Amino acid sequence: MHSLPTAALAIAVTLALSAHAAEADKTTATADIKTIHCGHLIDTAAGKLLGESTIVIEGARIKEIRAGNATVTGAKQAIDLPTSTCLPGLIDSHVHLTMEFSPTTYSDKFRLNVADFAIRSTVYARRTLDAGFTTVRNLADIDNESIALRNAINAGIVPGPRIFTAGKAIGSTGGHADSTDGYRKDLAGDPGPKDGIINSPEDAWKAVRQHYKDGADAIKIMPSGGVLDESTSVDNAQMTIEEIKAVVAAAHDYGFTVAAHAHGAEGIRRAILGGVDSIEHGTYMDDADMKLAKEHGTWLVPTIIAGKTAEEMANKPGVYPPQIATKARLVGPIIQATAGKAYKAGVKIAFGTDAGVYPHGNNAREFEYMVEAGMPPMFAIQAATLHAAQLLKQNKDLGSIAAGKYADVIAVPGNPLDDIKLMQKVDFVMKAGERYK
Ligand SMILES: [Zn+2]
Repeated sequence: MHSLPTAALAIAVTLALSAHAAEADKTTATADIKTIHCGHLIDTAAGKLLGESTIVIEGARIKEIRAGNATVTGAKQAIDLPTSTCLPGLIDSHVHLTMEFSPTTYSDKFRLNVADFAIRSTVYARRTLDAGFTTVRNLADIDNESIALRNAINAGIVPGPRIFTAGKAIGSTGGHADSTDGYRKDLAGDPGPKDGIINSPEDAWKAVRQHYKDGADAIKIMPSGGVLDESTSVDNAQMTIEEIKAVVAAAHDYGFTVAAHAHGAEGIRRAILGGVDSIEHGTYMDDADMKLAKEHGTWLVPTIIAGKTAEEMANKPGVYPPQIATKARLVGPIIQATAGKAYKAGVKIAFGTDAGVYPHGNNAREFEYMVEAGMPPMFAIQAATLHAAQLLKQNKDLGSIAAGKYADVIAVPGNPLDDIKLMQKVDFVMKAGERYK
């Protein structure tokens, strides 16, 4: 009974793979030139709005930028966007592509298998790409299903953004990374380093090396309490500096960057001193933390939209369990003001949203909230391109429309520097030279 559909699936997958391989060969064999004529173009590296420009693309990468509406002989395709502003593909540095919050989230954990989450993630990935996000950093999943999603996207099997994934989050027993919080004893068990739960520097090394074995691209740690888990504190410190330092040292052995979820001031302080690359959320980041972040060159990824959504959901009866609603009401309204203060203090800011806490595809609402917090529109756009690429250590390939970088190009109808809400109206998406919208 089972062999027939499995065999059919195997044949379908083989065909898809061989078709993709043939396409790749063709690209290298003949010059595959495309042009995009843009009414305006945002040069994120220079922080400037350019006039009429033509982007010349060869294969997956940008060959050159020419001023005006240039005709390139031998171009296979000329895309004409005379009234649009072109920008580099957007980067969301904090997403959860394999989940989307709903009122059944907490009981789904007992009903759904990893395969269910993986199948749903292909839909969320497409929505994210359609919204103009050609690259994301996935900061925690359930059981490494985001690694499978990344591989399927890279193989051309499903459409989606380029993913850099942290696999499972790393944290301590009973902390924000412990997915068994709130379970009855016999179901909770005692997860260990293999599942990202550590209680010593030695455990930290094992957990990071397990991530390397599993195929992760980055590391996410939980040095402070969080909103959407069933424990009491949202901001207590949950990892020692020694544990954080061990994670960072191990991560750097394997070329991983480290992202630290942290709401509380003490958790933030320890994470910065421990050497992490970015603080996620940063709700109670105080003046001393901001000074420390600047000294250490640590990025802040504010996720304002997550705070706003959590507050909204907390006030709808029955959406969150009571313990979580209390924490969400506390933290939700603070994140935006802290982000504004951090911007004024000169902390480096990269764009990230915590997508999955709110519905995937609405990522670009964060731009509006960043501008509301006092950041200039160009700064917000650079945070989602040039600066996010620096945080990911991918600035050689991503973050600006420049010769040699990946042809990740999006367009919006009009000038987003005049109206930042236009970032929510992306109507053209190209990733690595391939048009998706
Ligand atoms: Zn998150």
